[in-house]
Amino acid sequence: MLTPRWLPATYLGVCGWPVRHSRSPQMQNAALKATGRDDWRYLRLPLPPALFSDVVQSLATRGFRGVNVTIPHKEQALAVASSASPMARAIGAANTLTFGPDGEIHADNTDAPGLVSSLPSGFEPAGKTALVLGAGGAARAAIYALAQAGGEVLVWNRTPERARELASELGATAVHGQKRADIVVNCTSVGLYGDPDSFKALPLSADYVGAGSCVVDMVYRDGGTPLLQAARAWGAETVDGLEILVAQGAESFQRWTGEPAPRPVMRAALEMSDSQ
Ligand code: NAP
Repeated sequence: MLTPRWLPATYLGVCGWPVRHSRSPQMQNAALKATGRDDWRYLRLPLPPALFSDVVQSLATRGFRGVNVTIPHKEQALAVASSASPMARAIGAANTLTFGPDGEIHADNTDAPGLVSSLPSGFEPAGKTALVLGAGGAARAAIYALAQAGGEVLVWNRTPERARELASELGATAVHGQKRADIVVNCTSVGLYGDPDSFKALPLSADYVGAGSCVVDMVYRDGGTPLLQAARAWGAETVDGLEILVAQGAESFQRWTGEPAPRPVMRAALEMSDSQ
């Protein structure tokens, strides 16, 4: 069947509920344009949980190459897939689905490799101590990624039982109070609303975090987060949530297109959407 010239030939998208806040469309469409894929489009796909499975199966046979999956569908994405990477299975959640020519659905998790690839030189996790703050979905992927990369992983959570459960499942150590670590990853939602004192809810201070440590904040918001402002003042290196978003998106792009993603273009598109 011929595709009319005004319709894109290949579709990608992000499924979530809600999904209007997602910045993946700006980032991925910039990457598609920069790599000459003028007939590809990346769409926002608002999908209530009850429709997720049926709609995803129909997308797989209707011109979609793949989709990203965000809250609350990451576990369902794994369940709907016909195959999954060992990483997605071990984490128990998928954020990337890739559709094969006969409607096969392959699930993968790019949150985990995205985190590791965002760490600055000198902070490769092997032989280092990493402290993960939080026990939700983002923490799960971070703990798995850091442990797989050879780090010793400590887990702190506001609700300690959840940290204990996650740590014992993923081979990490649950901790209370402040601990020294080379790499700190904030996987809580603290800082999302910009309250300048919000980071004080976390077990971090200049006595434990400073020159020689790297603080990653999964949270992103216009103007940056109070945690990263404090970490910089304490002398730590920092990685912001936009960089993590770019990294997982770049890993997804590569799985769908078979080519490396233009990460600087993706970052610039996000920063431009920040100021709009
Ligand atoms: P989630 O499953 O809802 O988990 C939220 C976590 O935050 C829980 O551990 C919760 O602790 C903790 N928390 C919430 N409010 C807190 C407070 N006031 N003080 C201390 N801890 C608090 O969320 P998620 O999916 O893991 O995501 C976590 C954050 O990462 C979100 O802000 C999300 O936007 C961000 N994220 C960013 C990216 C990216 O690409 N940059 C990717 C994924 C997620 P309790 O167990 O005690 O409730």
